[in-house]
Amino acid sequence: MFHTVLVANRGEIAIRVMETLDGLGIAAVAVYTAGDLAHVAGADRAYQIPKYLDMEAILAAARDSGAQAIHPGYGFLAENAEFARRCAGEGIVFIGPPPAAIEAMGDKIRAKATVAAAGVPVVPGAAEPGDDLLTWAEFPALIKPSAGGGGKGMVVVRSAGELPAALESARRTAQAAFGDGTLLIERYIDSPRHIEIQVMADAHGNVVHLGERECSLQRRHQKIIEEAPSPFVTPEMREEMGRAAVEAARSVGYVGAGTIEFIVDGRTGSFHFMEMNTRLQVEHPVTEEVTRLDLVKLQLLAAAGEPLGLTQDSVRLNGHSVEARVYAEDPARGFLPTGGRVLLLREPRDARVDSGIEEGVVVGSSFDPMLSKVIVRDETREGALQALDRALAETTILGLTTNIPFLRALTTHPQVRAGELDTGLVERLLPTLTPSEGAEEALVAAALYFQAEAIGDGDPWASGDGWRLGEAAWTTWRLESRQGVHRVLVRGGVVTVDGGAELTASARRTGTELVLTVDGRATRFETARDGDSLWLGRKGAVWQVRRHRIGDPGDRPGAGKAADGVVRSPMPGTVLLVKAQPGDEVDAGQALVIVEAMKMEHTVTAPHAGTVKDVPVRAGQSVDMDAVLVVVEP
Ligand code: ADP
Ligand code: MG
Repeated sequence: MFHTVLVANRGEIAIRVMETLDGLGIAAVAVYTAGDLAHVAGADRAYQIPKYLDMEAILAAARDSGAQAIHPGYGFLAENAEFARRCAGEGIVFIGPPPAAIEAMGDKIRAKATVAAAGVPVVPGAAEPGDDLLTWAEFPALIKPSAGGGGKGMVVVRSAGELPAALESARRTAQAAFGDGTLLIERYIDSPRHIEIQVMADAHGNVVHLGERECSLQRRHQKIIEEAPSPFVTPEMREEMGRAAVEAARSVGYVGAGTIEFIVDGRTGSFHFMEMNTRLQVEHPVTEEVTRLDLVKLQLLAAAGEPLGLTQDSVRLNGHSVEARVYAEDPARGFLPTGGRVLLLREPRDARVDSGIEEGVVVGSSFDPMLSKVIVRDETREGALQALDRALAETTILGLTTNIPFLRALTTHPQVRAGELDTGLVERLLPTLTPSEGAEEALVAAALYFQAEAIGDGDPWASGDGWRLGEAAWTTWRLESRQGVHRVLVRGGVVTVDGGAELTASARRTGTELVLTVDGRATRFETARDGDSLWLGRKGAVWQVRRHRIGDPGDRPGAGKAADGVVRSPMPGTVLLVKAQPGDEVDAGQALVIVEAMKMEHTVTAPHAGTVKDVPVRAGQSVDMDAVLVVVEP
């Protein structure tokens, strides 16, 4: 076995891989880019590199540290055959399959042809350059970039009329994202379920499968919640799919951990090969939980040329495991990426959390917005889903908005509970999956928090509680939440929000915890302070409440969020284009600035007609979430 291994990745997967290295007594070498340090603590040595895709710098770090092998994690260089070859050229073991297998599977067209020849069922389709995709006549159909990944550039076509335009647009996206415009088209499978098989192969010709994972809960072809086993797969089906997966792996001389993705017709149960991912998957932990195997350890064994010591009969599935991906994104704003500093972090007790963040870390737009994965196991599927919901409710991340309430709504949805999944389910349920309750309580809690702070240490002369002879005055707090600016009035134990009913409310703080009692009902929040903002968290949901001070823009009497004219960036990102100059007259809804993050462009528009007073940003500049982009005076 190796004595030193370099991990060429970041975040949760780098930490995950280093845990296994540590357990095996193997020295871990980390690489990191400037400021991206969360995964470095688990390493014995660390090297700063310019980019995670910089092969030169990574190989130099491997040479310098005496690493005998490189684990690429997932993403970045994990499916890069050239990198695997470069490693071999330097006498360093690439922990992954042979370069030829990466190449054969990295191209969807070639992969389908290869496994079809080995007798594995594939989705009927046509592929370039041999076929003219314009003559395809079976609809609905799906266009895919042959070099694709991550769901990018895939287009569903409903009729022949849509085909020419769809092909053109898919080709543009494919060329831009993958540098290769080659496309394939295939039948769009009805009620599709995404079910994939984990395979493991050693260099001695031993290939086994470790059962399936169902990943049908997706949005825009990206997985959100994954589970093992699938509620849809019978033992017979598992055996059949497992055999097909092993054949597919054999057809390319596979070694190491790999995943064969199948698309399954939810009505007939027929399954078809979609693609093979020649690496460890994000969702590998659910397989580890039900098989009680450490996949990274098996990868290391295979890479070191050791036999796996596994036979198909020795692989047993125990219970049920579910994983949810926690993202820095805001479901209420169309899943735009969010960002910010992690001010407070609380993780669940009875769950496995594979996390890439810690308190103090700044989540920005440079990397994938996945923060962590919450993984649970139970004897039954029902029990596992309940445990996942509990674990998500016990997860508190203050300082940025996450998708946790959305994940909870999904986990508890009756159709998900019933196991009636297909890859379109999330999109159909979307309107019901963005819960928004609790906003008023958070405002009341924030007002009482700021009020208690204003009262200070009991010095009556410093007191800001509105005391005066006869009767205390109301204190007015102008608090900004995502819904806008609110007027919250506090007097003694009475609070009103935006002129609503008088609530009898009190708040008690101990450390970061705040217990709010409203009309006799107690609610517990975790809190964290960031300048004029208070972050409150409860059962996975978070609220940011910003106090306005006298003189702030937007603090003019009667000014609401829309009227204050300050246009902020909806996400952390880069300014692509500035379309307004100071002095310009603009109309309501006119495009002012385009911000880009995660290859998504977002157009920021004028909230009202007026005159542009200030544009404190320029094209190319990176901006934080909520950074001021333009000020428009009504
Ligand atoms: P990627 O490389 O982007 O992961 P895949 O070929 O694995 O591309 O497809 C991504 C997702 O698209 C799948 O998980 C599935 O939800 C959907 N999909 C792919 N092929 C089909 C098909 N023929 N019919 C229906 N859905 C499909
Ligand atoms: Mg895929």
